[in-house]
Amino acid sequence: MSRAVRAKPKEHVDLLIVNADELVTLAGGGERPRTGKQMRELGIIRDGCLAIKEGRIVAVGKTVEITKAFKAENVISAKGRTVLPGFVDPHTHLVFAGSREDEFQMRVEGASYMEILASGNGILRTVRETRKARGEKLVDIGLETLNVMLEHGTTTAEAKSGYGLTTKDELKILEAAKRLNQLHCVDVVNTFLGAHAVPSEYKGNTDGYVSLVVEEMIPKVAEKNFADFCDAFCERGVFNLEQTRRVLVAGEKFGLKPKIHADEMSMLGGAELAADVGAVSAEHLLFSSAEGVKAMAEKGVIAVLLPAAAFSLMMGRYADARLMIDYDVPVALGTDFNPSCWVESQQLVIALACHFMKLTSAEAITAATINAAHAIGRAGEIGSLEVGKKADVVILDVPNHKFLGYRFGVNLVDRVIKNGRIVVDREKQDEPLLLGEAE
Ligand SMILES: [Zn+2]
Repeated sequence: MSRAVRAKPKEHVDLLIVNADELVTLAGGGERPRTGKQMRELGIIRDGCLAIKEGRIVAVGKTVEITKAFKAENVISAKGRTVLPGFVDPHTHLVFAGSREDEFQMRVEGASYMEILASGNGILRTVRETRKARGEKLVDIGLETLNVMLEHGTTTAEAKSGYGLTTKDELKILEAAKRLNQLHCVDVVNTFLGAHAVPSEYKGNTDGYVSLVVEEMIPKVAEKNFADFCDAFCERGVFNLEQTRRVLVAGEKFGLKPKIHADEMSMLGGAELAADVGAVSAEHLLFSSAEGVKAMAEKGVIAVLLPAAAFSLMMGRYADARLMIDYDVPVALGTDFNPSCWVESQQLVIALACHFMKLTSAEAITAATINAAHAIGRAGEIGSLEVGKKADVVILDVPNHKFLGYRFGVNLVDRVIKNGRIVVDREKQDEPLLLGEAE
């Protein structure tokens, strides 16, 4: 033993991740989502290290520094790898029964939306199947979906209702999502989307259905504390601006923060409405006007962009993310996981965002982590690797962050750490881990 300066005893932690080629921290964002050039600032530490204790991050820095102060029995070498905050998916329709692969074949062969609807497919088919399913069945299906999300690096997901469209069935869906949050290590954040479609029993009476949503569903959802957010599908032929406003204002009265499915298929003024009601986020935005985008920037409304939805619907058009970033609208990315856009991977969404919306890998990573966390009101806890935050971490088997978007169609995940626990370890096994089987 040398007689060098006697070091302070090292603090014992649960887990150390050392020697990351790139540790992408996204630190220093503060209270607000990132906009403009900030979206490219990832706060990368080379040869980075994370110390984790009791589910939280207790130190972030260079390996040589952190390992002087901390020790752990459990040490992961991230040499040759990139370490990021766990992905946050801020827009999913997590809970539903059935599937619509036949409809996809029809779309491939050129069928129109109306033909698909006439053949008994589309959203109302999923409503029929979801109404028939018992709550436990929906939970079982949801657990499998969350496993796949987790395996691809998503550690928190939003979940919208909207395939029930009766008070009882909407509550059943939200209750299933609550249960999923309890059972599965992925955190689930609920959004009430009773105004997702007009059910067949209200055909021709959209206002009557909106009254049901406003007068009966929203109060019940709030009373049971089943959701943080209230959303509505503002679209030609679905809910118009006035009906959407009615739903969101009613939701807000009951403490549900507004979100909007806006300007997905047509320019209806959804972006403007989002700004006007002070929505947390407006989502899709393929056809939004420049004025609408400007209004969103002024009010700080987050644009949740969903390129996988445009991709799967073969729309040949994507949201104008570059304009939004130029106007200082904070941009987030989500999967829009649902039966017509069956994708659980934020890695693929990042690739689509880079290819079709011309986001850089850095911007897309910001959009799928810290800005996504802001979009669901969780940025104080997740979305960046900073001392005090939850230890939700993904280790990718690539040497730097620019591989995200560049290398696509495969799962780049090496390990996922949720609340400080290693829950996916691809070195050990290829199978997804079910809850309870993790280390
Ligand atoms: Zn959606």
